[in-house]
Amino acid sequence: MEPRYIDKVDIRGKRVFIRVDFNVPLDKHGNITDDTRIRGVLSTINYALDEKARVILASHLGRPKGKRVPEMSLATVARRLARLIERPVVMAPDCVGPETEALVADMKPGDVLLLENLRFHPEEEQNDEGFARALASLADVYIDDAFAVAHRSHASNVAITRYIKTRAAGFLMQKEMTYFAMAMNNPVRPLIAILGGKKISDKVGVLVALCDRVDKLILGGGMALTFLKALGYEIGASFAEDNALDQARAVVKKAKEKGIKLYLPVDFVVSTDFDAASETKVVTSQEIPKDWMALDIGPATVTLFSEVLHNAKTIVWNGPMGVFEMDAFSRGTFALVSRVANSYALTIVGGGDTDVAVHRAGEYAKMSYISTGGGAFLEILKGIDLPGIAVLRESDNGAEATDGKDM
Ligand code: AMP
Repeated sequence: MEPRYIDKVDIRGKRVFIRVDFNVPLDKHGNITDDTRIRGVLSTINYALDEKARVILASHLGRPKGKRVPEMSLATVARRLARLIERPVVMAPDCVGPETEALVADMKPGDVLLLENLRFHPEEEQNDEGFARALASLADVYIDDAFAVAHRSHASNVAITRYIKTRAAGFLMQKEMTYFAMAMNNPVRPLIAILGGKKISDKVGVLVALCDRVDKLILGGGMALTFLKALGYEIGASFAEDNALDQARAVVKKAKEKGIKLYLPVDFVVSTDFDAASETKVVTSQEIPKDWMALDIGPATVTLFSEVLHNAKTIVWNGPMGVFEMDAFSRGTFALVSRVANSYALTIVGGGDTDVAVHRAGEYAKMSYISTGGGAFLEILKGIDLPGIAVLRESDNGAEATDGKDM
């Protein structure tokens, strides 16, 4: 069930607290290297400005672990945002406290205030009630547009909703939910999931859940090697999770029971070391030499996976096919990016590494949708109700909350 969205609540002239995800990548000089996350919430911010709201934006950046870390200030984001929305953005010195309260009190309709990094306070990640109440006291309406943290229970996306009566999700959240519903609830079939990345232990719940929904499952990356090992293959010095072999076998068993076709790599690019400059060669899955490690899927696997995807109508993808960060082991991932990007299917790509790979391959515009959530995307694939979204629905059930102004 979807939450209520921003266009269904009255925000005209109100103080609107919008939880966004401005956790942008920065280079070593503190410059923003990719502002996709800022652009992702512009439709919500612009809508609120059109409604003459007083827009209070809150986000985290990096992992300051509850301490004030100057390099993780959102001041750089404030400057970029001001350029994108073509109006001033005032940077608050903190996200709570008297100075911030005074800045909020001075706001006029159409003003934008960006609060300082929420995670400078340990209480944010502790879902602390007092901290949440202090954040809530700044606003009349709560809008959550930070899908990427919806799988977490933090003060700014869960506890805060107990102290602001009017709450809803933003347009980015709406987009995520809409694409997710298209892919998972009522997909045009065949629905094919591609899962890659390093560990299966992180994704076993997703794999099991996907067996109830998809028609075919393609596995690549390090996790495929754990599967091959579980099935009795010799995988040399490749990465594998020995404590997850039973889990891999359980997934194979479930796929078989459900009649889902499971595809594993048939060849690999193997290397003598975890190093781009080391010797490499292509071998079949049955012939990985003893001291070599498989770091990418091979060309025969790209052909096989392309063939499997040939008649797909819906494709969901999370996780690279190899160590794509190194050129020598990136070809398999990039070839598959190109295959998926040029397919006629509805193509939905999970965030994190897969997002980076799609960007690097220059195929960003050709995917139907690239989720802004890494962990949140995986959790939603499991069919779990994300805590950050559940609390936005409660308002529709008439759950009581005290208006932030009164606290
Ligand atoms: P994850 O965070 O689980 O999605 O894993 C992403 C990481 O998996 C990337 O940084 C890749 O370099 C890594 N990876 C993919 N394939 C392999 C492999 N065959 N061996 C080791 N690491 C891999």
